Amino acid sequence: MELFKHIEPTAFATVILPLAMPKPLTFHITDELIPRVKFGIRVEVQVGKGRDLYSAVVIGVSSVKPDYATKAITQIIDDEPIISTLQLDFWQWLARYYSCTLGEVMNAALPTNMKLSSETRIVLNPEHNQDFSELNDHEYLVAEALTIQKELTIDQIQKILGHRTVYPLINRLLMLQILDIKEELQQKFKPKIVACVRFKEPYLSDTEGVTMSAIFDQIKNSDKQTNAMLAFLQLIRQQAQNQPVVRCSEIYEKAKTVDLGVLRAIEKKGIFEIYEREVSRIGGYEDELIVDPELSNQQTKAIYDIKKAFETKNVALLHGVTGSGKTRVYTDLMEKAIENGGQVLYLLPEIALTTQIISRLEKIFGDKITIYHSKLNAHERVELWAQAFGGKPIILGVRSALFLPFQNLKLIIVDEEHDASFKQQDPAPRYNARDSAIFLASQYKAKVLLGTATPSVETYSNAQQGKFALVEMTERFGGLQMPDIDIVDMKAETKNKTVVGNFSSRLVEELKAALGRGEQTILFQNRRGYAPTYTCPSCAWTSECKNCDVTLTYHKFTNALNCHYCGYTIKLPKECPACGSKTLIIKGFGTERVEDELKIHLPQARIGRLDLDTARTRTQHSKIISDFENKEIDILVGTQMVTKGLDFENVGLVGVLSADSLLRFPDFRASERAFQLLLQVSGRAGRKHKQGKVLIQAFDVKNLVLLDVQKNNYVSFFNREIAERQEFNYPPFVRLIAINLKHKKPDVLREAAKVFTKLLRGRLGDRVNGPATPLVEWVNTLYILNYLIKLERDTAKLTLAKQIIEEATHELHLLEGFSNVRVAIDVDPY
Ligand code: ADP
Ligand code: ZN
Ligand code: ZN
Repeated sequence: MELFKHIEPTAFATVILPLAMPKPLTFHITDELIPRVKFGIRVEVQVGKGRDLYSAVVIGVSSVKPDYATKAITQIIDDEPIISTLQLDFWQWLARYYSCTLGEVMNAALPTNMKLSSETRIVLNPEHNQDFSELNDHEYLVAEALTIQKELTIDQIQKILGHRTVYPLINRLLMLQILDIKEELQQKFKPKIVACVRFKEPYLSDTEGVTMSAIFDQIKNSDKQTNAMLAFLQLIRQQAQNQPVVRCSEIYEKAKTVDLGVLRAIEKKGIFEIYEREVSRIGGYEDELIVDPELSNQQTKAIYDIKKAFETKNVALLHGVTGSGKTRVYTDLMEKAIENGGQVLYLLPEIALTTQIISRLEKIFGDKITIYHSKLNAHERVELWAQAFGGKPIILGVRSALFLPFQNLKLIIVDEEHDASFKQQDPAPRYNARDSAIFLASQYKAKVLLGTATPSVETYSNAQQGKFALVEMTERFGGLQMPDIDIVDMKAETKNKTVVGNFSSRLVEELKAALGRGEQTILFQNRRGYAPTYTCPSCAWTSECKNCDVTLTYHKFTNALNCHYCGYTIKLPKECPACGSKTLIIKGFGTERVEDELKIHLPQARIGRLDLDTARTRTQHSKIISDFENKEIDILVGTQMVTKGLDFENVGLVGVLSADSLLRFPDFRASERAFQLLLQVSGRAGRKHKQGKVLIQAFDVKNLVLLDVQKNNYVSFFNREIAERQEFNYPPFVRLIAINLKHKKPDVLREAAKVFTKLLRGRLGDRVNGPATPLVEWVNTLYILNYLIKLERDTAKLTLAKQIIEEATHELHLLEGFSNVRVAIDVDPY
């Protein structure tokens, strides 16, 4: 190297790396690359002493040399920018507000297939047809190598090609959907396959006259087959295309007596064939559209109020009771927003993103809508990125949909605004999608509508202060009454010995009555699994997780003990591992136990269960919900999952098995959560036609939160809660930052906390609370200590406090022995 004269580089690019680096890094640009480097494109760079390659996004080009020795950008990946300056501003705001690095934000924002690093492992996309004829020599080499060897590392690809810069090539193969990145494959979604029917030769081309009578001749002995054929012909005629697509399910729908067996019988006669057709999960809506129903007076007024409010305010809260018809208000505003090429982002919590809401919106907006959820595969994510970039009018999605590259955003709807799942817990950025949506909207001069029946205390307070507009809908749609909510006194029932298992006699009676009337019931139990603990009565041994400080939960179906924190699972021990006793007993109860007890009380009822165990995938989830919709289930037992955004027509009764466990949570939000959950689950009762009944079992029957739920009185709840928040200094009166320190060794953690406390207290004084040991102090083999910082609501002071915390973290990491203490900063914890 020294033999050559060193040429001073003249052009530099600042890039974001997908790493938790405190600042963006600057690289120099070699002369031949200078014309191609610009804002927003990805480049390949090498970082550190090793051979680690990363794809990085360029956020600035300049001729000013930084005060450190720069490395060169090794290759250009994109010709055109993949992000806009608005997106970068959004990322920067998130990094600043939530005290994390730009790299961490970028990691959350970009689809996996747009990020490459040395750890990336490449595989063939199993859905690709392996036609490589379009590829150039180098690309072909890589693709072919992968047909022999299942997966390749970046290193191996470099060897195959005999040179180091490989990202542009990999990127092209990813975009052609020939390759996949390994990690994403595990959670890959099967493409949706639907069974369809079409004529076979000789009936394919000519379905008139002679042929027709020949067909009906062959099936004339079977009414069912004749009906099926009539339905099939009718469906074909409704479609104007050359190659009509008729789904088997459509035939079943039209001709009620027809099932697969009937169609198979016709197939056997050689008239038509059943074939499988793949349908894209993204867009491609094929069914008929419907016209949005007429607005009720209440809806018309709400829409008018919201529009009026948007003239002066950027955010409005729509506080509408369950069943008031908020969705129809949204759709009206959405239609207006997209009229002149505008875009709408409709955010929902993941588990509320059910087929119900999707199909309701698809029926109205058809192809104008696309869905963004966490189970999309890598290619679908890139496809959605492109759709947003291309100006797709409506994106219905979960919190991370905020990161899509919008063009002309006009309106963001945050449905179920109060939901805790809008807050990302781990990893950083620990952002709240509702609050971030407000910033995002301000960038586009778009409006934000927050909708819920149970507003979060912060949001309602913002509305009261006039920061947000407040629009209310106090009546249910169609004049339906709010459910009648009763509290069952479990103390009295226990005293009278009328409780069997976990069921009061009241609840059992009402369950029987509902069943007798042909009405459905939802039973809510806050815990999944069969029993929280499995213990030995002789020596008090309990089954505990080996990675976490919690008891394992018994799951009857798998006959195993399972940790709900880390997933650790063991088989059920036959005898007590401590004393050898053979009689181990179950204590407490979960959804599975409730299901079993129900079978004893109501042997004739058809029972379904909806929790994380029975609904592991979206398919399982929608199957249970559609079974309930189709009245194939009488009683649905479930966790929180049954409380969100579901709309059933025939639910006469909702039962809550134990309200006490909700109310007694050591968290300043416990009352708020309990109130929201109880009111939301009550809201599932009595939709359409008839007032519903809700029974809440509780020992603490005088609890004020319970009484507010019973009266459906949000304002009463809010007034008491806000007074308490003020008295004890909690949000919205202060801002909170939660910090947790984690380490494998408890003594190292304690020592680190001593130092950290000093660093913080020196500058933040008694705003610093902690360190405190959390309820569960050992999770995933790491010990945890928590801090809670309470700060004045003053932007300048808040910024300074974040800076102090970041500096303290940095200083702690510089000290010997503490470099690997993990520090997680959580701004506005939830
Ligand atoms: P919310 O989200 O406020 O709880 P929904 O939007 O689910 O309420 O509406 C409750 C029920 O009322 C749904 O079954 C919905 O189909 C029906 N509904 C709402 N608005 C209308 C309308 N304008 N015309 C006919 N049905 C409506
Ligand atoms: Zn565990
Ligand atoms: Zn024992």
